[in-house]
Amino acid sequence: MSDSQFETVIGGTQDKCSSCGGHLYFSPEYQALKCESCGGLEKIEYNHDNKKHEFVIDEKLKQEHKQFAEENKVFKCSSCGANVVLNKLDVATHCPYCDSSITIAKDVEIGLRPDSIIPFKFGLEKAAQLYKEGLKKKRFLPNVFKKKPPMDEIKGIYVPCFSFDANSHTVYRGRLGRNHTSTVNGRTTTHTTYFSISGVRDFQHHDILVETSSHIDQKTFNGIKPYNLKELVVYNDCFIRGYSLEHYDQALENCKKVANSIMEQTIRSQILSSYTYSVVESYSQDVEFSQEKYSYYIVPTYSVKYKYKGKDYITYMNGQTGKVGGGLPKSAIKITLFVLMLIAIVVGLGLLFYYS
Ligand SMILES: [Zn+2]
Ligand SMILES: [Zn+2]
Repeated sequence: MSDSQFETVIGGTQDKCSSCGGHLYFSPEYQALKCESCGGLEKIEYNHDNKKHEFVIDEKLKQEHKQFAEENKVFKCSSCGANVVLNKLDVATHCPYCDSSITIAKDVEIGLRPDSIIPFKFGLEKAAQLYKEGLKKKRFLPNVFKKKPPMDEIKGIYVPCFSFDANSHTVYRGRLGRNHTSTVNGRTTTHTTYFSISGVRDFQHHDILVETSSHIDQKTFNGIKPYNLKELVVYNDCFIRGYSLEHYDQALENCKKVANSIMEQTIRSQILSSYTYSVVESYSQDVEFSQEKYSYYIVPTYSVKYKYKGKDYITYMNGQTGKVGGGLPKSAIKITLFVLMLIAIVVGLGLLFYYS
């Protein structure tokens, strides 16, 4: 992407500061667009009428996606492969993940327009402060992280995820065992009695979030969850100006499969938890889903990049709540001490029982 290309686009639109004509970007502090040059603010309309779609793309939705494709572009990082969506008014030229320069991706379709967004709640400065505070709660971190954490770069990026709703109807059967212990003449024995279960249960599943980023896996994402979905607003390009949005990596259909398997696990554990049992001998369920709906959400994250003992690390943080995720280095000494303490407790308890 050449700089001149962008200048033409910016110069050719009315989306500029109304007082000085400067470039506008989203300011989490003001929850408004802020002018880079004069600091003037432009209000953004907050619409809470978030929608969920059935799995059919109707004309209206097609129109929305078309407009989104006209107002935004997908950029590809040649170094790490990230696909990033940028508003055509944006001036970012570097990959939010690895900082290499990005170019317009010719082979990637922009596809779906996000339905809803949780805008960044705080800016870079506050993010750095919250990150330091968040680290204080982490166990096993090398001491330097609590005093002066290494922080080479901190960046905000919106991560794409799909949210799924469904009703489920489940027919299940199985055999469970319950352990009984009895003490005869000072000797304790355990025996198990088995019983059959079967039945029909209905559940409603709401907002099962599946990340669809090529850089953040579900485990990392779970580490910075939850997001307060009450703060979702209808997507508006203004919110991503100055930030970037990672293009969804996995298609909707694949994410739906992940969501359905999360729902099936919930159904299984909900049904089993209604029984008192010690072991599952067998269990099977047939689940039928209906009223299936989805929504495309984008949620704010900050990534903190740093080097520690010659190794590169990235730690993510929730851009709404400030929760710091995993992926941090661990202090071998602290882990060893902790394990030794556990062993001491186990041995101590053993001796206690032995002599009592
Ligand atoms: Zn201005
Ligand atoms: Zn990159």
